[in-house]
Amino acid sequence: MNRIMIVTGGSRGIGAATARLAAAEGYAVCISYLRNQPAAEAVVREIAQAGGKAMAVAADVAVEADVLRLFERVDAALGRVTALVNNAGILERHMRVKEMDAGRLSRVLAANVIGSFLCAREAVRRMSTRHGGSGGAIVNLSSAASRLGSPNEYVDYAASKGAIDTFTLGLAKEVAAEGIRVNAVRPGVIYTDIHADGGEPGRVDRVKSAVPMLRGGQPEEVAKAILWLLSDEASYSTGAILDVSGGR
Ligand code: NAP
Repeated sequence: MNRIMIVTGGSRGIGAATARLAAAEGYAVCISYLRNQPAAEAVVREIAQAGGKAMAVAADVAVEADVLRLFERVDAALGRVTALVNNAGILERHMRVKEMDAGRLSRVLAANVIGSFLCAREAVRRMSTRHGGSGGAIVNLSSAASRLGSPNEYVDYAASKGAIDTFTLGLAKEVAAEGIRVNAVRPGVIYTDIHADGGEPGRVDRVKSAVPMLRGGQPEEVAKAILWLLSDEASYSTGAILDVSGGR
């Protein structure tokens, strides 16, 4: 069976590392991105130069029409998706809950929660044995924040990842008999650009002393856990939430 993967938010960080590793393992990969076209094209080029197959589509996961177009592009160019990584996610500047307005809350929940639901819905419609599909696997990106709560930084983001944990449990049970496994990874502090969006590019180095392993993680370390959960090696795992957080 051809293995075809969609990685949302694959232009940078954990998504880009996942796309590179997946392509090296033989998946045809489509990455989506929000607006950083040069970064997305660089990932596609790098995969192609290494002998892999990749494409990129600009698609905001929070916009239903964009999600529909993303999956239709993959249907046409690569075939029926067999693996989805719900990786696109955002956080906004550090602040306390008492300062958060509805616009911010809507943006964070739309990208992190609604985006993951919409992409999973499109994947299930294609993977489910009930719909003539031949099964597949989904990995959602949660965060250690869902356990920690992220006080004084981004409780909204942490709560969105709590929703992802519950979404993972529920969807996993809903589609388990249809050939689809649904799992999540819960990264701790990983060296990516996301911390700059919170207003603190050096956040990983500030908080790493609170990590039992006393270091931040690399995107590739998260990518390996994602690829394992998607692989046949994890054939009896569904509804699992795997911490990749150095013990924190
Ligand atoms: P990142 O470096 O900030 O990259 C974010 C990626 O998502 C980019 O490719 C970006 O596209 C894309 N994106 C953002 N909003 C989008 C939208 N609405 N629609 C489509 N794509 C969108 O992020 P990261 O640190 O790799 O994080 C990836 C995932 O891991 C997120 O779900 C995050 O919450 C989770 N996570 C990260 C950490 C960490 O410490 N880094 C820890 C726990 C969990 P553009 O390049 O076009 O902007």
